[in-house]
Amino acid sequence: MNTDLLIIGAGAAGLFAACQAAFAGIRCVVLERRSRAGIKLLMCANNRCNFGHLGSADELLAAYGEPVASFLSPAVRAMPSTAVARWFERMGLPVKRNGQRLYPASERGDDVLHLFLDILRERQVPVVYHCSVEDIQRIEGGFRVSSASLQLECKRVLLAVGGCSYPKTGSMGDGMIFAERLGLKTEAPRAGLVAVECRQDDALNLGRGELELPEVTATGAGTPAIPGNLVLEEGVLRGSAVYDLTRFLARKNLPLKNLTIDFLPGKPLDGLSKRWEMLCQRHGDNDALKFNGMGLPPRLAQSLAQYRDFPLSALKAYPVMDARMRPLREAIVTVGGIALEEFNPKTMECRKIPGLYAAGECLDIDGPTGGYNLEAAFATAALAVQGMKG
Ligand SMILES: Cc1cc2nc3c(=O)[nH]c(=O)nc-3n(C[C@H](O)[C@H](O)[C@H](O)COP(=O)(O)OP(=O)(O)OC[C@H]3O[C@@H](n4cnc5c(N)ncnc54)[C@H](O)[C@@H]3O)c2cc1C
Repeated sequence: MNTDLLIIGAGAAGLFAACQAAFAGIRCVVLERRSRAGIKLLMCANNRCNFGHLGSADELLAAYGEPVASFLSPAVRAMPSTAVARWFERMGLPVKRNGQRLYPASERGDDVLHLFLDILRERQVPVVYHCSVEDIQRIEGGFRVSSASLQLECKRVLLAVGGCSYPKTGSMGDGMIFAERLGLKTEAPRAGLVAVECRQDDALNLGRGELELPEVTATGAGTPAIPGNLVLEEGVLRGSAVYDLTRFLARKNLPLKNLTIDFLPGKPLDGLSKRWEMLCQRHGDNDALKFNGMGLPPRLAQSLAQYRDFPLSALKAYPVMDARMRPLREAIVTVGGIALEEFNPKTMECRKIPGLYAAGECLDIDGPTGGYNLEAAFATAALAVQGMKG
């Protein structure tokens, strides 16, 4: 055997697992397709790296929802975001919170990546770049892992190859290919946490220049009202309200239909009507000033006044015209992947193939916006290594 453990993928899960393995004294090698590690990690929160969320394990698990929560329960209980934060601080990386979200104090994802790579360098854990694993074969006492130019034998393999979105980062859905070849079940990949486009002539198409509404709710057919922010730019709707709505739909296998936005959540229509009457007296038929007076930013107020002649109630349920989800390749997270039933959630080891482990987004796990996806990657990675020690 060339090594005890081969970790396939130097993303969030693979790097964290490699650090944990190094500290546990497990001989390991990391194989990475791209010329650099952690490309998607650096994209997180525009490189600010929202790596976790404050709250008890129960609160975190409630945010994932089922069936993800039941599977993640042992991993998140063993390593909730606060434990990841403590680990970073112990390793010399200060962290900060912004609301409930956790970030490195520098708000630089590069610092998280460098921390991982420094640990691996100091502990002499090889990371092999330009190594796109093509095949995993079972052999006596372990596995043979092959790329076009390399063949290595090991006792254990950790699949940490990520999901399918942003394929240029190196995450191209290989986990599902390996799993299927090894006889494991997979779930079809769908876009979770993805932007939505509206029709070119929709009033929410404000043209160039981002406009952020900090608090709205978004609702589709079959969904509850999902709270969060909304970012509008060039006919594309982003922000946590829309992202979390698309993840909800992907989890339930529902199409996006009848997307409406409540621009004034928490304010009942009755109270708004009184204010509207007062604004009518003040501004006459100048709807832009009236919408602005209702609390909408001037650009949006202007656009709504120009393109729509709608009742006040539409501010509470604005119907987005022909809303369409952007494709999977642009999603923040992949819903779907290697089926959860194939892995033991207490150890992250494959039920059918002893010695094969998986962590992170290649599994059918995903969370809402707010640091839950990195938390899932780190917690499952740590549990997998724990499982190898035990
Ligand atoms: C724009 C954007 C913003 C995001 N922001 C946040 C955020 O703020 N907070 C948050 O919690 N989550 C965020 N996420 C999600 C988060 O980045 C992912 O869930 C997380 O990176 C998954 O980690 P992973 O290790 O499972 O996969 P990845 O980070 O995707 O890593 C997989 C690695 O495996 C390598 N690989 C794949 N196949 C092979 C192969 N055959 N051989 C060798 N190597 C291979 C890839 O090159 C890659 O390096 C964001 C995602 C995106 C796209």
